[in-house]
Amino acid sequence: MKDLLVSEDLLATKRVIDLQEEHEQILRAELQSTPKVNLSKLSKDTLGTSLIPEEQRGLLAVKVSGDGNCLYNSASVFIKGDETLNGTLRVLTACELYLNAEFYANHAKIHQARGDSSYFEKTLFTLMLTAAGENEWQVSSSKVKAIKAEAAGTSEDNVWSGLVHIMGLATVIKRPIFSVYPNANLALRPLLHGLIHPRLCSPADVSPVYIMWSRDGNLDNRPGAVFQPNHFVPLVCRDDSQLRSLTKSSQVEKVQPITQFFSRKPDLSSKMKLGTKRLATTEQGAELEVPKRPRTASIHARKFNPSWQEEFTWLKFDSEQNLLYCSFCKEAGAEIAGQTDLVTGSTSFKKETLNIHGASNHHRRARDYVLSKVKPTSEGPLSKLFQKIQSE
Ligand SMILES: [Zn+2]
Repeated sequence: MKDLLVSEDLLATKRVIDLQEEHEQILRAELQSTPKVNLSKLSKDTLGTSLIPEEQRGLLAVKVSGDGNCLYNSASVFIKGDETLNGTLRVLTACELYLNAEFYANHAKIHQARGDSSYFEKTLFTLMLTAAGENEWQVSSSKVKAIKAEAAGTSEDNVWSGLVHIMGLATVIKRPIFSVYPNANLALRPLLHGLIHPRLCSPADVSPVYIMWSRDGNLDNRPGAVFQPNHFVPLVCRDDSQLRSLTKSSQVEKVQPITQFFSRKPDLSSKMKLGTKRLATTEQGAELEVPKRPRTASIHARKFNPSWQEEFTWLKFDSEQNLLYCSFCKEAGAEIAGQTDLVTGSTSFKKETLNIHGASNHHRRARDYVLSKVKPTSEGPLSKLFQKIQSE
């Protein structure tokens, strides 16, 4: 199939259409013959459930295999209650992306995310790709070609998926997919979290399915750790009895702490959005009252700008001490990161300093060192994607 999808000639297109029709028939037959499954009875994914953000807290994560097919496994669970349809859904998603590459190259979600994110549209586009599309994008700078490369990439079993595949999959299953992203990596969340509509608009009464970016295996839950998804899980409704026990005892509280590890950045940026002015006043006030370090009280003193944390994901601000840190260099220590104020606490509130630091070899070495310690359970494109973001 991959050979077809990398070919440009009309005959190949015709054969992709045939392939699509054939697999659509399989899917239709399954949809008609499968009795309704009680999804809440399926095996629960505890780590996944603990990552569900507040707004989807009524849902439950269900276990699916983390074999690279997890996106298609998740969608298969919604249709059949098991993973057996993953191959059909994968083939159909590949066909959908190949035949409608133009549509996905300019997907509405990118424009929508552009309004809420500090990233450029081109960056947002590359963030929805996996390695296959990104490599093509590097070579040709063609969005359509990059989408077609994603189609070819996803035609092979066990290859990891990204946002672009969720987009294609929504059309394949003819239902909106709510892409649920845990409350982490706030700069990326406008793109990765939210409703994805099928290409051909479905009737409004079709409810969405919920698929969440999660982790298979361990979670690095140290404060300041970066959440790196490597897994997709389906989120299903809890059954009535579970809902009742939820409201009776507050069991839901038990599963909250994990995402709180990521709450530091969210706090700052949500304050920023709610009222930049108020935050500025508070900060200024605090500085005037307690000038902790004489150096910063000089007339040339600059202030910490919360938007820097969106731009420099590694930046940590200690508001009590009024010091800036680089989370990577601090963790790696001066032996690896070298003698930089950002290990011991810097009072240089200049963006230029941060730019220079982010590009320095010492910082890169510290970053690689720390990320290698995180040991993602997979070296799939998802974890690469997040390392890429770290390096920006
Ligand atoms: Zn650093």
